[in-house]
Amino acid sequence: MSERGFTAALLRWFGLYGRELPWRGIDDAYGIWVSEVILQQTRIEQGRDYWLRFMERFPTVEALAAASEDEVLRLWQGLGYYSRARNMHAAARQIVEHGGFPRTIEGLRSLKGVGDYTAAAVGSMAFGLPVAAVDGNVYRVLARHYGIDVPINTTRGKRTFEALAQELVPADAASAFNQAMMDFGATWCTPRSPRCIDCPVAETCEALRTGRVDQLPVKEKKLQVKERHFSYIYIRHEGMTALRRRPAGDIWQGLWEPLLVEDAPLPDLGCPLMLLASGVKHVLTHRILLADFYLAEPEARPELPPGYIWVSEQELDRHGVPRLVEKLFSMVH
Ligand code: SF4
Repeated sequence: MSERGFTAALLRWFGLYGRELPWRGIDDAYGIWVSEVILQQTRIEQGRDYWLRFMERFPTVEALAAASEDEVLRLWQGLGYYSRARNMHAAARQIVEHGGFPRTIEGLRSLKGVGDYTAAAVGSMAFGLPVAAVDGNVYRVLARHYGIDVPINTTRGKRTFEALAQELVPADAASAFNQAMMDFGATWCTPRSPRCIDCPVAETCEALRTGRVDQLPVKEKKLQVKERHFSYIYIRHEGMTALRRRPAGDIWQGLWEPLLVEDAPLPDLGCPLMLLASGVKHVLTHRILLADFYLAEPEARPELPPGYIWVSEQELDRHGVPRLVEKLFSMVH
């Protein structure tokens, strides 16, 4: 099926099966925007009631801008993700200041909390801008229909799907096309058990033809961020402290560090350990370190574990240390 064939089939389907929603058929940018913000993280059945209530209390963007944040948040109660309401309130004030809704994608994008998807949805539905609104539904439908296995959560995936959606969107019916894609993804080509049997584009669906419906779209597994807990003990004894060079095969190879305890009880150094800081966070790629810093000032020189040496505190700055250790040093000097 040509691109045009897919778009036409989808628009025909939308004419028959598009969902009846209270904000459908309106061209009021404000009402459309409110519906899009509500639906970002909310199911449509719940969102519908909130939209009606919201529009009744704040029928215009001016009414929303003039409200107090407390009142907006109260009306939002139960929907969660309150930053959406706060951003919307702030954006309403931006719009009123600006003298009305911006009518370009860039203008819409400049509103607080408005990303590419919302800008495209509002721009196409309210102002007829020929822009595709690409969300999870669109990724899924396109990945399956065109048999694209580029992971959707990568930059390359985003670019691929956005470019394809943009090719498909008809310049004179962007609003209907975007709504059709949303509805089709939400009710027909669903994540689990899609209705391939009576699908309007089944004949040309690549995933169906090749038996990959349940394998598309592809998501790249993100490497899990591991958490590690470090306890660093700065030992001070007669102007000396204990350091070691970090071994190979781990982070910070070759840099120096004070006595490190990881996944083991704190050692007995013959004196109390003074806690200087706890849970100091240090973020590395794929790793988060949480460190506790201690100071120990024993009267007798303790025996050090293998690998550690005594270094004069005067000469500490001759030793390259990780930034996390620098923080500890700054607390004891
Ligand atoms: S045939 Fe199935 S997988 Fe393909 S577009 Fe239609 S509903 Fe989606």
